[in-house]
Amino acid sequence: MELTHPEQNLSDPHFQSRSEIIKSIRGDAVCDILVIGGGIQGATFAHLAAFNGFRTVLLERDDYACGTSSRSSKIVHGGLRYLANFDFRQVLDGLHCREDLLQVAAHLVRPHSFALAVDRGANLERLKLQLGVTLYRLLSTLTKSRRALPAPALLEDPEVRSRYTIIPFEDALMDDARLVIERIIAARQEGARCLNYAQVMAHYRRQDGTHAVKWRETGLHSDAPAYELNAGVIVNCAGQWASQVEPVLSRNQKFRLVYSRGAHLLFSKPWRGPVLVRQAKDGRGRVYFIMPHFCGASAGTLVGTTEREISAEQAQLGTASVVEAGEAQELLEALERDFPSLALDRSSLFYGFAGVRTMVAAKGERNIDTAKLSRRHLWVESGGVLSLLGGKYTTARSIAEDGLRRLLKITQSKLKLTSLRGRLLAGGGVVSQEFSGACRENSVAETVIQACIQRFGSRVREMLAEPGLLQVVAGQVLQGEIELAIKHEQACTLDDLLSRRFGLEYTDGHGIAAAQQLCDSLGLGSGEAERQIGDYKAKIERGQALT
Ligand SMILES: Cc1cc2nc3c(=O)[nH]c(=O)nc-3n(C[C@H](O)[C@H](O)[C@H](O)COP(=O)(O)OP(=O)(O)OC[C@H]3O[C@@H](n4cnc5c(N)ncnc54)[C@H](O)[C@@H]3O)c2cc1C
Repeated sequence: MELTHPEQNLSDPHFQSRSEIIKSIRGDAVCDILVIGGGIQGATFAHLAAFNGFRTVLLERDDYACGTSSRSSKIVHGGLRYLANFDFRQVLDGLHCREDLLQVAAHLVRPHSFALAVDRGANLERLKLQLGVTLYRLLSTLTKSRRALPAPALLEDPEVRSRYTIIPFEDALMDDARLVIERIIAARQEGARCLNYAQVMAHYRRQDGTHAVKWRETGLHSDAPAYELNAGVIVNCAGQWASQVEPVLSRNQKFRLVYSRGAHLLFSKPWRGPVLVRQAKDGRGRVYFIMPHFCGASAGTLVGTTEREISAEQAQLGTASVVEAGEAQELLEALERDFPSLALDRSSLFYGFAGVRTMVAAKGERNIDTAKLSRRHLWVESGGVLSLLGGKYTTARSIAEDGLRRLLKITQSKLKLTSLRGRLLAGGGVVSQEFSGACRENSVAETVIQACIQRFGSRVREMLAEPGLLQVVAGQVLQGEIELAIKHEQACTLDDLLSRRFGLEYTDGHGIAAAQQLCDSLGLGSGEAERQIGDYKAKIERGQALT
Protein backbone atom coordinates (compact mmCIF):
# COMPACT_ATOMS: atom_id res chain seq x y z
CA MET A 1 0.00 0.00 0.00
CA GLU A 2 1.30 3.46 -0.85
CA LEU A 3 1.16 6.01 1.96
CA THR A 4 0.44 9.61 1.10
CA HIS A 5 0.88 12.76 3.17
CA PRO A 6 -1.58 15.63 3.33
CA GLU A 7 -0.05 18.74 1.84
CA GLN A 8 -1.05 21.38 4.32
CA ASN A 9 1.25 21.85 7.28
CA LEU A 10 -0.22 22.41 10.72
CA SER A 11 1.86 25.50 11.24
CA ASP A 12 0.54 26.86 7.96
CA PRO A 13 -1.16 30.20 8.62
CA HIS A 14 -4.13 28.96 6.56
CA PHE A 15 -4.90 26.31 9.19
CA GLN A 16 -7.76 28.28 10.70
CA SER A 17 -8.05 29.13 14.38
CA ARG A 18 -11.25 28.43 16.28
CA SER A 19 -12.46 32.02 16.07
CA GLU A 20 -11.73 32.16 12.33
CA ILE A 21 -13.81 29.02 11.81
CA ILE A 22 -16.69 30.50 13.80
CA LYS A 23 -16.52 33.66 11.73
CA SER A 24 -16.56 31.67 8.51
CA ILE A 25 -19.65 29.61 9.33
CA ARG A 26 -21.95 32.14 10.89
CA GLY A 27 -24.17 34.59 9.10
CA ASP A 28 -25.67 32.59 6.24
CA ALA A 29 -22.53 30.68 5.32
CA VAL A 30 -22.85 27.90 2.75
CA CYS A 31 -21.40 24.39 2.62
CA ASP A 32 -21.97 21.29 0.51
CA ILE A 33 -22.00 18.84 3.41
CA LEU A 34 -22.72 19.46 7.07
CA VAL A 35 -21.61 16.63 9.35
CA ILE A 36 -23.29 16.51 12.76
CA GLY A 37 -21.21 14.83 15.47
CA GLY A 38 -17.48 14.78 16.15
CA GLY A 39 -17.02 11.14 17.15
CA ILE A 40 -14.97 8.79 14.97
CA GLN A 41 -17.74 8.42 12.38
CA GLY A 42 -18.35 12.14 11.90
CA ALA A 43 -14.63 12.95 11.93
CA THR A 44 -13.86 10.29 9.32
CA PHE A 45 -16.77 11.34 7.13
CA ALA A 46 -15.64 14.99 7.25
CA HIS A 47 -12.09 13.93 6.35
CA LEU A 48 -13.31 11.91 3.37
CA ALA A 49 -15.76 14.54 2.15
CA ALA A 50 -13.18 17.34 2.30
CA PHE A 51 -10.55 15.12 0.68
CA ASN A 52 -12.99 14.57 -2.20
CA GLY A 53 -13.37 18.30 -2.69
CA PHE A 54 -16.64 19.04 -0.89
CA ARG A 55 -17.02 22.21 1.14
CA THR A 56 -17.45 20.48 4.47
CA VAL A 57 -18.45 21.70 7.92
CA LEU A 58 -18.49 19.48 11.02
CA LEU A 59 -20.22 20.60 14.22
CA GLU A 60 -19.79 18.82 17.55
CA ARG A 61 -21.91 20.01 20.45
CA ASP A 62 -19.44 19.01 23.15
CA ASP A 63 -15.79 18.07 22.69
CA TYR A 64 -14.58 15.78 19.91
CA ALA A 65 -14.75 12.11 20.95
CA CYS A 66 -16.69 12.90 24.11
CA GLY A 67 -19.28 10.20 23.27
CA THR A 68 -18.67 6.49 22.71
CA SER A 69 -15.57 7.21 20.66
CA SER A 70 -13.54 7.71 23.84
CA ARG A 71 -15.33 4.93 25.75
CA SER A 72 -14.86 1.99 23.42
CA SER A 73 -12.90 -1.13 24.32
CA LYS A 74 -10.05 0.20 22.17
CA ILE A 75 -9.71 -2.95 20.08
CA VAL A 76 -9.03 -2.60 16.36
CA HIS A 77 -10.24 -5.85 14.91
CA GLY A 78 -11.84 -7.79 12.13
CA GLY A 79 -14.11 -9.39 14.73
CA LEU A 80 -13.33 -13.03 15.40
CA ARG A 81 -16.75 -13.34 17.07
CA TYR A 82 -18.60 -12.40 13.89
CA LEU A 83 -17.37 -15.58 12.24
CA ALA A 84 -19.83 -17.45 14.45
CA ASN A 85 -22.60 -15.58 12.54
CA PHE A 86 -20.84 -16.31 9.20
CA ASP A 87 -20.52 -12.56 8.71
CA PHE A 88 -17.45 -12.82 6.47
CA ARG A 89 -18.04 -9.46 4.81
CA GLN A 90 -17.89 -7.66 8.15
CA VAL A 91 -14.74 -9.55 9.18
CA LEU A 92 -12.93 -8.86 5.90
CA ASP A 93 -13.91 -5.21 6.03
CA GLY A 94 -12.60 -4.98 9.60
CA LEU A 95 -9.31 -6.65 8.66
CA HIS A 96 -8.73 -4.27 5.73
CA CYS A 97 -9.50 -1.27 7.94
CA ARG A 98 -7.32 -2.63 10.76
CA GLU A 99 -4.37 -2.87 8.39
CA ASP A 100 -4.97 0.65 7.10
CA LEU A 101 -5.08 2.09 10.63
CA LEU A 102 -1.87 0.29 11.54
CA GLN A 103 -0.23 2.03 8.58
CA VAL A 104 -1.66 5.54 8.78
CA ALA A 105 -1.63 5.99 12.56
CA ALA A 106 1.13 3.70 13.80
CA HIS A 107 1.56 5.76 16.99
CA LEU A 108 -2.10 5.33 17.99
CA VAL A 109 -2.80 1.79 16.75
CA ARG A 110 -0.50 -1.09 17.60
CA PRO A 111 -0.63 -4.80 16.79
CA HIS A 112 -1.13 -6.88 19.91
CA SER A 113 -1.39 -10.55 20.76
CA PHE A 114 -4.71 -11.90 21.96
CA ALA A 115 -5.57 -15.20 23.65
CA LEU A 116 -8.82 -17.05 24.15
CA ALA A 117 -9.00 -18.86 27.50
CA VAL A 118 -11.08 -22.03 27.14
CA ASP A 119 -11.85 -24.39 30.05
CA ARG A 120 -9.78 -27.53 29.96
CA GLY A 121 -12.12 -30.38 29.13
CA ALA A 122 -14.52 -28.21 27.07
CA ASN A 123 -13.37 -30.03 23.97
CA LEU A 124 -16.19 -29.11 21.63
CA GLU A 125 -15.91 -25.41 22.46
CA ARG A 126 -12.12 -25.57 22.07
CA LEU A 127 -12.45 -27.23 18.69
CA LYS A 128 -14.95 -24.63 17.47
CA LEU A 129 -12.77 -21.76 18.66
CA GLN A 130 -9.61 -23.27 17.19
CA LEU A 131 -11.38 -23.60 13.87
CA GLY A 132 -12.56 -19.99 14.12
CA VAL A 133 -9.06 -18.72 14.91
CA THR A 134 -7.55 -20.71 12.04
CA LEU A 135 -10.07 -19.17 9.67
CA TYR A 136 -9.51 -15.70 11.15
CA ARG A 137 -5.76 -16.01 10.66
CA LEU A 138 -6.29 -17.24 7.12
CA LEU A 139 -8.48 -14.23 6.35
CA SER A 140 -5.82 -11.97 7.93
CA THR A 141 -3.21 -13.51 5.65
CA LEU A 142 -5.46 -13.15 2.60
CA THR A 143 -6.06 -9.49 3.38
CA LYS A 144 -2.30 -9.05 3.93
CA SER A 145 -2.96 -7.89 7.48
CA ARG A 146 -1.39 -10.73 9.44
CA ARG A 147 1.41 -9.66 11.79
CA ALA A 148 3.89 -12.04 13.37
CA LEU A 149 3.82 -11.33 17.10
CA PRO A 150 5.68 -13.00 19.95
CA ALA A 151 3.72 -15.77 21.67
CA PRO A 152 1.66 -14.53 24.65
CA ALA A 153 3.98 -14.40 27.67
CA LEU A 154 1.46 -14.00 30.50
CA LEU A 155 0.41 -17.49 30.01
CA GLU A 156 3.39 -18.54 32.10
CA ASP A 157 1.02 -18.12 35.07
CA PRO A 158 0.79 -21.76 36.30
CA GLU A 159 -2.79 -21.46 37.50
CA VAL A 160 -4.04 -19.99 34.22
CA ARG A 161 -2.17 -22.72 32.35
CA SER A 162 -3.59 -25.49 34.47
CA ARG A 163 -7.20 -24.30 34.14
CA TYR A 164 -7.37 -23.18 30.53
CA THR A 165 -6.38 -24.11 27.04
CA ILE A 166 -5.03 -20.95 25.46
CA ILE A 167 -5.75 -20.21 21.80
CA PRO A 168 -3.61 -17.30 20.56
CA PHE A 169 -4.42 -14.91 17.72
CA GLU A 170 -3.56 -11.34 16.70
CA ASP A 171 -5.46 -8.05 16.52
CA ALA A 172 -4.62 -4.47 17.51
CA LEU A 173 -5.21 -1.87 20.24
CA MET A 174 -5.77 1.85 19.89
CA ASP A 175 -6.01 5.17 21.67
CA ASP A 176 -9.57 5.85 20.53
CA ALA A 177 -9.94 9.47 21.68
CA ARG A 178 -6.70 10.64 20.09
CA LEU A 179 -7.50 8.86 16.86
CA VAL A 180 -10.62 11.04 16.58
CA ILE A 181 -8.57 14.17 17.30
CA GLU A 182 -6.15 13.23 14.52
CA ARG A 183 -9.00 12.55 12.09
CA ILE A 184 -10.35 16.02 12.85
CA ILE A 185 -6.91 17.50 12.16
CA ALA A 186 -6.75 15.52 8.91
CA ALA A 187 -10.20 16.80 7.91
CA ARG A 188 -9.09 20.36 8.64
CA GLN A 189 -5.90 19.86 6.65
CA GLU A 190 -8.12 19.00 3.69
CA GLY A 191 -10.07 22.21 4.22
CA ALA A 192 -13.03 21.03 6.35
CA ARG A 193 -14.20 23.56 8.90
CA CYS A 194 -14.62 21.60 12.13
CA LEU A 195 -15.85 23.09 15.36
CA ASN A 196 -16.39 21.60 18.79
CA TYR A 197 -18.77 23.13 21.35
CA ALA A 198 -21.15 23.92 18.51
CA GLN A 199 -24.56 22.29 18.68
CA VAL A 200 -26.99 21.78 15.85
CA MET A 201 -30.34 22.75 17.33
CA ALA A 202 -32.69 22.46 14.38
CA HIS A 203 -32.74 22.06 10.64
CA TYR A 204 -35.36 22.24 7.93
CA ARG A 205 -35.36 21.61 4.22
CA ARG A 206 -36.10 24.44 1.84
CA GLN A 207 -38.05 24.04 -1.37
CA ASP A 208 -34.85 24.01 -3.43
CA GLY A 209 -33.73 20.93 -1.46
CA THR A 210 -31.00 22.66 0.58
CA HIS A 211 -31.07 22.79 4.37
CA ALA A 212 -31.23 25.69 6.75
CA VAL A 213 -29.40 24.69 9.92
CA LYS A 214 -29.59 26.51 13.24
CA TRP A 215 -26.53 26.09 15.42
CA ARG A 216 -24.98 27.78 18.41
CA GLU A 217 -21.89 27.62 20.55
CA THR A 218 -22.20 25.67 23.80
CA GLY A 219 -19.94 25.13 26.82
CA LEU A 220 -18.32 28.33 27.94
CA HIS A 221 -20.63 30.30 25.72
CA SER A 222 -24.06 29.22 26.97
CA ASP A 223 -25.60 32.61 26.18
CA ALA A 224 -24.25 32.56 22.62
CA PRO A 225 -26.64 33.55 19.83
CA ALA A 226 -27.94 31.06 17.26
CA TYR A 227 -26.59 31.22 13.71
CA GLU A 228 -27.87 29.88 10.43
CA LEU A 229 -25.83 27.76 8.06
CA ASN A 230 -26.89 26.62 4.59
CA ALA A 231 -26.04 23.03 3.76
CA GLY A 232 -26.56 21.02 0.58
CA VAL A 233 -26.90 17.81 2.56
CA ILE A 234 -26.74 16.84 6.22
CA VAL A 235 -24.84 13.80 7.40
CA ASN A 236 -26.07 12.75 10.82
CA CYS A 237 -23.28 11.04 12.79
CA ALA A 238 -24.70 11.81 16.22
CA GLY A 239 -24.25 8.25 17.55
CA GLN A 240 -26.74 7.39 20.27
CA TRP A 241 -28.38 10.80 19.75
CA ALA A 242 -28.98 10.28 16.01
CA SER A 243 -32.75 10.00 16.50
CA GLN A 244 -32.80 13.33 18.35
CA VAL A 245 -31.20 14.98 15.33
CA GLU A 246 -33.55 13.13 12.96
CA PRO A 247 -36.68 12.00 14.88
CA VAL A 248 -38.00 10.10 11.87
CA LEU A 249 -35.46 7.34 12.67
CA SER A 250 -37.41 6.16 15.71
CA ARG A 251 -40.62 5.90 13.68
CA ASN A 252 -39.24 3.64 10.94
CA GLN A 253 -41.57 0.85 9.78
CA LYS A 254 -38.86 -1.69 9.02
CA PHE A 255 -36.37 -1.50 11.86
CA ARG A 256 -36.08 -0.69 15.51
CA LEU A 257 -33.12 1.08 17.11
CA VAL A 258 -31.46 -0.93 19.86
CA TYR A 259 -29.14 0.71 22.37
CA SER A 260 -26.61 -1.26 24.35
CA ARG A 261 -24.09 -0.32 26.97
CA GLY A 262 -20.77 -1.92 27.86
CA ALA A 263 -18.82 -1.34 31.07
CA HIS A 264 -15.05 -1.06 31.54
CA LEU A 265 -13.05 -1.27 34.76
CA LEU A 266 -9.54 0.06 35.24
CA PHE A 267 -7.04 -1.50 37.62
CA SER A 268 -3.78 0.15 38.61
CA LYS A 269 -1.79 -3.07 38.13
CA PRO A 270 0.04 -3.10 34.82
CA TRP A 271 -0.92 -5.82 32.33
CA ARG A 272 1.95 -7.14 30.29
CA GLY A 273 0.30 -10.08 28.58
CA PRO A 274 -1.94 -10.59 25.60
CA VAL A 275 -5.54 -9.45 25.55
CA LEU A 276 -7.16 -12.32 27.38
CA VAL A 277 -10.65 -13.13 26.10
CA ARG A 278 -12.97 -15.19 28.22
CA GLN A 279 -16.59 -16.26 27.98
CA ALA A 280 -18.01 -15.84 31.50
CA LYS A 281 -19.78 -18.85 32.96
CA ASP A 282 -22.41 -16.64 34.55
CA GLY A 283 -25.47 -18.11 32.93
CA ARG A 284 -25.48 -15.32 30.33
CA GLY A 285 -22.19 -16.34 28.76
CA ARG A 286 -21.05 -12.74 28.33
CA VAL A 287 -17.61 -12.33 26.84
CA TYR A 288 -15.13 -10.21 28.75
CA PHE A 289 -11.51 -9.36 28.16
CA ILE A 290 -8.48 -8.33 30.18
CA MET A 291 -5.95 -6.10 28.46
CA PRO A 292 -3.34 -3.38 28.83
CA HIS A 293 -4.98 0.04 28.79
CA PHE A 294 -3.49 1.37 25.59
CA CYS A 295 -3.67 5.08 26.03
CA GLY A 296 -0.81 7.63 26.08
CA ALA A 297 -0.55 7.93 29.82
CA SER A 298 -1.94 4.79 31.37
CA ALA A 299 -0.03 1.66 32.27
CA GLY A 300 -2.97 -0.04 33.97
CA THR A 301 -5.19 -3.01 33.18
CA LEU A 302 -8.52 -2.57 31.42
CA VAL A 303 -11.29 -5.11 31.83
CA GLY A 304 -14.28 -4.75 29.56
CA THR A 305 -17.36 -6.69 28.67
CA THR A 306 -19.84 -7.05 25.85
CA GLU A 307 -22.93 -4.95 26.18
CA ARG A 308 -26.47 -5.09 27.48
CA GLU A 309 -29.58 -3.51 26.03
CA ILE A 310 -30.78 -0.25 27.59
CA SER A 311 -33.70 2.02 26.70
CA ALA A 312 -33.46 4.98 24.33
CA GLU A 313 -34.09 7.31 27.28
CA GLN A 314 -31.22 5.79 29.28
CA ALA A 315 -28.91 5.91 26.25
CA GLN A 316 -29.39 9.62 25.79
CA LEU A 317 -28.66 10.56 29.41
CA GLY A 318 -25.21 11.69 30.53
CA THR A 319 -25.22 8.97 33.21
CA ALA A 320 -25.02 6.29 30.50
CA SER A 321 -21.23 6.71 30.59
CA VAL A 322 -21.00 5.76 34.26
CA VAL A 323 -20.49 2.14 35.35
CA GLU A 324 -23.19 0.99 37.77
CA ALA A 325 -22.14 -0.71 41.01
CA GLY A 326 -23.97 -3.92 40.00
CA GLU A 327 -22.08 -4.13 36.69
CA ALA A 328 -18.75 -3.64 38.47
CA GLN A 329 -19.65 -6.30 41.01
CA GLU A 330 -20.54 -8.81 38.29
CA LEU A 331 -17.23 -8.30 36.51
CA LEU A 332 -15.26 -8.53 39.74
CA GLU A 333 -16.99 -11.79 40.59
CA ALA A 334 -16.20 -13.21 37.15
CA LEU A 335 -12.53 -12.24 37.54
CA GLU A 336 -12.29 -13.79 40.97
CA ARG A 337 -13.98 -16.98 39.84
CA ASP A 338 -12.06 -17.37 36.57
CA PHE A 339 -8.63 -15.87 37.33
CA PRO A 340 -8.05 -15.73 41.11
CA SER A 341 -4.26 -15.77 40.67
CA LEU A 342 -4.34 -12.50 38.69
CA ALA A 343 -5.69 -10.69 41.78
CA LEU A 344 -7.68 -8.15 39.78
CA ASP A 345 -9.87 -7.10 42.68
CA ARG A 346 -11.11 -4.07 44.56
CA SER A 347 -7.67 -3.39 46.02
CA SER A 348 -6.35 -2.21 42.64
CA LEU A 349 -9.64 -1.15 40.98
CA PHE A 350 -9.61 2.64 40.64
CA TYR A 351 -11.97 3.75 37.88
CA GLY A 352 -14.72 2.77 35.49
CA PHE A 353 -16.32 4.07 32.31
CA ALA A 354 -19.05 2.84 29.98
CA GLY A 355 -19.99 3.33 26.34
CA VAL A 356 -23.27 3.10 24.44
CA ARG A 357 -23.78 1.92 20.89
CA THR A 358 -26.72 1.97 18.53
CA MET A 359 -27.66 -1.13 16.58
CA VAL A 360 -30.48 -2.00 14.28
CA ALA A 361 -32.92 -4.89 14.79
CA ALA A 362 -35.89 -6.00 12.72
CA LYS A 363 -39.17 -4.42 13.82
CA GLY A 364 -40.94 -6.66 16.33
CA GLU A 365 -37.76 -8.52 17.30
CA ARG A 366 -37.71 -8.66 21.13
CA ASN A 367 -35.46 -10.17 23.83
CA ILE A 368 -32.43 -9.62 21.70
CA ASP A 369 -28.98 -10.85 22.67
CA THR A 370 -27.10 -7.65 21.83
CA ALA A 371 -23.77 -9.50 21.70
CA LYS A 372 -25.11 -11.45 18.71
CA LEU A 373 -26.70 -8.50 16.90
CA SER A 374 -24.78 -7.46 13.79
CA ARG A 375 -22.24 -4.63 14.15
CA ARG A 376 -22.83 -3.72 10.53
CA HIS A 377 -23.73 -0.15 9.87
CA LEU A 378 -26.79 1.19 8.09
CA TRP A 379 -27.08 4.51 6.27
CA VAL A 380 -30.66 5.77 6.21
CA GLU A 381 -31.72 8.68 4.01
CA SER A 382 -34.74 10.78 4.84
CA GLY A 383 -35.51 14.19 3.38
CA GLY A 384 -31.92 14.98 2.41
CA VAL A 385 -30.50 13.88 5.76
CA LEU A 386 -28.23 10.84 5.66
CA SER A 387 -28.11 9.20 9.10
CA LEU A 388 -25.65 6.61 10.29
CA LEU A 389 -26.86 3.81 12.54
CA GLY A 390 -24.62 1.18 14.11
CA GLY A 391 -21.15 0.32 12.89
CA LYS A 392 -17.79 -0.23 14.54
CA TYR A 393 -14.98 2.13 15.34
CA THR A 394 -12.50 0.00 13.38
CA THR A 395 -14.45 0.24 10.14
CA ALA A 396 -15.11 4.01 10.23
CA ARG A 397 -13.18 4.56 6.98
CA SER A 398 -15.19 2.07 4.95
CA ILE A 399 -18.43 3.23 6.62
CA ALA A 400 -17.67 6.80 5.52
CA GLU A 401 -16.84 5.65 2.00
CA ASP A 402 -20.09 3.72 1.80
CA GLY A 403 -21.97 6.81 3.04
CA LEU A 404 -20.34 9.18 0.57
CA ARG A 405 -21.03 6.75 -2.28
CA ARG A 406 -24.70 6.80 -1.27
CA LEU A 407 -24.67 10.58 -1.20
CA LEU A 408 -23.15 10.74 -4.67
CA LYS A 409 -25.87 8.41 -5.90
CA ILE A 410 -28.69 10.36 -4.24
CA THR A 411 -27.40 13.65 -5.63
CA GLN A 412 -26.73 12.00 -9.02
CA SER A 413 -23.16 13.22 -8.90
CA LYS A 414 -20.69 11.83 -11.45
CA LEU A 415 -17.75 12.31 -9.09
CA LYS A 416 -15.57 9.25 -8.58
CA LEU A 417 -14.82 8.82 -4.91
CA THR A 418 -11.17 8.78 -3.84
CA SER A 419 -10.54 6.55 -0.85
CA LEU A 420 -8.72 7.65 2.30
CA ARG A 421 -6.84 4.38 2.27
CA GLY A 422 -3.14 4.92 2.94
CA ARG A 423 -3.60 8.61 3.77
CA LEU A 424 -1.32 9.25 6.76
CA LEU A 425 -2.78 11.02 9.76
CA ALA A 426 -0.93 14.07 11.09
CA GLY A 427 1.24 12.18 13.58
CA GLY A 428 1.56 9.03 11.48
CA GLY A 429 4.99 9.79 10.00
CA VAL A 430 8.41 8.80 11.28
CA VAL A 431 9.18 10.03 14.80
CA SER A 432 12.43 12.01 14.88
CA GLN A 433 15.17 10.65 17.14
CA GLU A 434 16.08 14.26 17.76
CA PHE A 435 13.01 14.67 19.96
CA SER A 436 13.90 11.93 22.46
CA GLY A 437 17.50 13.19 22.51
CA ALA A 438 16.44 16.76 23.27
CA CYS A 439 14.03 15.54 25.99
CA ARG A 440 16.74 13.48 27.66
CA GLU A 441 19.08 16.46 27.60
CA ASN A 442 16.34 18.33 29.47
CA SER A 443 16.07 15.45 31.98
CA VAL A 444 12.51 14.59 30.92
CA ALA A 445 11.47 11.24 32.42
CA GLU A 446 11.34 8.32 29.97
CA THR A 447 7.65 7.64 30.75
CA VAL A 448 6.74 11.23 29.82
CA ILE A 449 8.75 10.99 26.56
CA GLN A 450 7.14 7.71 25.54
CA ALA A 451 3.61 8.85 26.43
CA CYS A 452 4.14 12.03 24.40
CA ILE A 453 5.39 10.07 21.37
CA GLN A 454 2.44 7.74 21.63
CA ARG A 455 0.01 10.67 21.71
CA PHE A 456 1.55 12.90 19.06
CA GLY A 457 3.63 10.55 16.89
CA SER A 458 5.69 12.44 14.34
CA ARG A 459 4.12 15.74 15.45
CA VAL A 460 6.59 15.75 18.36
CA ARG A 461 8.95 17.55 15.97
CA GLU A 462 6.82 20.66 16.51
CA MET A 463 7.89 20.63 20.16
CA LEU A 464 11.49 21.22 19.14
CA ALA A 465 10.65 24.75 17.97
CA GLU A 466 11.65 26.29 21.31
CA PRO A 467 13.22 24.87 24.48
CA GLY A 468 10.31 25.93 26.72
CA LEU A 469 8.07 23.39 24.96
CA LEU A 470 10.09 20.54 26.47
CA GLN A 471 9.34 21.59 30.02
CA VAL A 472 7.37 19.04 32.05
CA VAL A 473 4.13 20.20 33.67
CA ALA A 474 3.21 18.56 36.99
CA GLY A 475 5.44 15.59 36.14
CA GLN A 476 2.96 14.44 33.49
CA VAL A 477 2.92 16.25 30.15
CA LEU A 478 5.19 18.53 28.16
CA GLN A 479 4.40 22.21 27.76
CA GLY A 480 4.55 21.57 24.00
CA GLU A 481 1.71 19.03 24.23
CA ILE A 482 -0.46 21.58 26.00
CA GLU A 483 0.27 24.23 23.40
CA LEU A 484 -0.41 21.89 20.48
CA ALA A 485 -3.64 20.67 22.07
CA ILE A 486 -4.92 24.21 22.59
CA LYS A 487 -3.66 25.71 19.33
CA HIS A 488 -4.23 22.90 16.83
CA GLU A 489 -6.70 20.55 18.49
CA GLN A 490 -9.29 23.03 19.77
CA ALA A 491 -8.96 21.93 23.41
CA CYS A 492 -11.09 24.50 25.24
CA THR A 493 -11.60 23.12 28.74
CA LEU A 494 -9.68 21.34 31.47
CA ASP A 495 -11.67 18.18 30.79
CA ASP A 496 -10.76 18.31 27.07
CA LEU A 497 -7.08 18.33 28.01
CA LEU A 498 -7.11 15.77 30.82
CA SER A 499 -9.56 13.34 29.25
CA ARG A 500 -9.33 13.34 25.47
CA ARG A 501 -6.01 15.05 24.63
CA PHE A 502 -3.74 13.46 27.27
CA GLY A 503 -5.73 10.52 28.68
CA LEU A 504 -4.71 11.50 32.23
CA GLU A 505 -8.30 10.89 33.37
CA TYR A 506 -7.47 7.19 33.18
CA THR A 507 -4.35 7.30 35.34
CA ASP A 508 -4.21 6.76 39.07
CA GLY A 509 -4.20 10.45 40.10
CA HIS A 510 -6.50 11.38 37.16
CA GLY A 511 -4.14 14.25 36.30
CA ILE A 512 -5.59 16.45 39.04
CA ALA A 513 -2.06 17.56 40.02
CA ALA A 514 -1.75 19.29 36.64
CA ALA A 515 -5.22 20.89 36.74
CA GLN A 516 -4.32 24.40 37.90
CA GLN A 517 -1.43 24.76 35.45
CA LEU A 518 -3.61 23.52 32.60
CA CYS A 519 -6.29 26.06 33.53
CA ASP A 520 -3.61 28.77 33.43
CA SER A 521 -2.51 27.62 29.98
CA LEU A 522 -6.13 27.75 28.83
CA GLY A 523 -6.23 31.35 30.03
CA LEU A 524 -9.12 30.73 32.44
CA GLY A 525 -9.86 33.30 35.12
CA SER A 526 -9.75 32.11 38.72
CA GLY A 527 -13.55 31.68 39.05
CA GLU A 528 -13.84 29.70 35.81
CA ALA A 529 -10.78 27.60 36.69
CA GLU A 530 -12.29 26.75 40.06
CA ARG A 531 -15.57 25.77 38.42
CA GLN A 532 -13.88 23.55 35.84
CA ILE A 533 -11.66 21.86 38.42
CA GLY A 534 -14.76 21.22 40.55
CA ASP A 535 -16.68 19.76 37.58
CA TYR A 536 -13.74 17.55 36.66
CA LYS A 537 -13.39 16.22 40.20
CA ALA A 538 -17.13 15.49 40.33
CA LYS A 539 -16.85 13.52 37.08
CA ILE A 540 -13.92 11.52 38.48
CA GLU A 541 -15.92 10.76 41.63
CA ARG A 542 -18.75 9.37 39.50
CA GLY A 543 -16.27 7.09 37.73
CA GLN A 544 -14.87 5.96 41.08
CA ALA A 545 -18.24 5.12 42.62
CA LEU A 546 -17.99 1.43 41.82
CA THR A 547 -19.09 -0.05 45.12
C1 LIG B 1 -18.90 -0.49 25.13
C2 LIG B 1 -18.48 -0.39 23.70
C3 LIG B 1 -17.24 -0.86 23.31
C4 LIG B 1 -16.85 -0.77 21.98
N1 LIG B 1 -15.63 -1.25 21.62
C5 LIG B 1 -15.25 -1.20 20.33
C6 LIG B 1 -13.98 -1.70 19.97
O1 LIG B 1 -13.21 -2.18 20.80
N2 LIG B 1 -13.64 -1.63 18.66
C7 LIG B 1 -14.47 -1.12 17.70
O2 LIG B 1 -14.11 -1.12 16.53
N3 LIG B 1 -15.68 -0.60 18.03
C8 LIG B 1 -16.07 -0.63 19.33
N4 LIG B 1 -17.29 -0.10 19.69
C9 LIG B 1 -18.08 0.63 18.70
C10 LIG B 1 -17.55 2.06 18.54
O3 LIG B 1 -16.96 2.53 19.72
C11 LIG B 1 -18.67 2.99 18.14
O4 LIG B 1 -19.29 2.43 17.02
C12 LIG B 1 -18.15 4.37 17.74
O5 LIG B 1 -17.32 4.93 18.73
C13 LIG B 1 -19.33 5.28 17.49
O6 LIG B 1 -18.85 6.49 17.00
P1 LIG B 1 -19.85 7.64 16.58
O7 LIG B 1 -19.04 8.71 15.99
O8 LIG B 1 -20.95 7.08 15.78
O9 LIG B 1 -20.56 8.09 17.95
P2 LIG B 1 -20.02 9.02 19.15
O10 LIG B 1 -18.60 8.82 19.41
O11 LIG B 1 -20.95 8.82 20.29
O12 LIG B 1 -20.21 10.47 18.55
C14 LIG B 1 -21.45 11.10 18.37
C15 LIG B 1 -21.25 12.58 18.63
O13 LIG B 1 -22.37 13.33 18.19
C16 LIG B 1 -22.45 14.48 19.01
N5 LIG B 1 -23.78 15.09 18.87
C17 LIG B 1 -24.97 14.56 19.25
N6 LIG B 1 -25.97 15.42 18.96
C18 LIG B 1 -25.40 16.52 18.39
C19 LIG B 1 -25.92 17.75 17.89
N7 LIG B 1 -27.21 18.05 17.91
N8 LIG B 1 -25.04 18.67 17.38
C20 LIG B 1 -23.71 18.40 17.34
N9 LIG B 1 -23.19 17.25 17.81
C21 LIG B 1 -24.01 16.31 18.32
C22 LIG B 1 -22.18 13.92 20.39
O14 LIG B 1 -21.80 14.92 21.31
C23 LIG B 1 -21.07 12.90 20.10
O15 LIG B 1 -19.78 13.44 20.31
C24 LIG B 1 -17.71 -0.18 21.02
C25 LIG B 1 -18.95 0.31 21.42
C26 LIG B 1 -19.34 0.21 22.74
C27 LIG B 1 -20.66 0.73 23.15
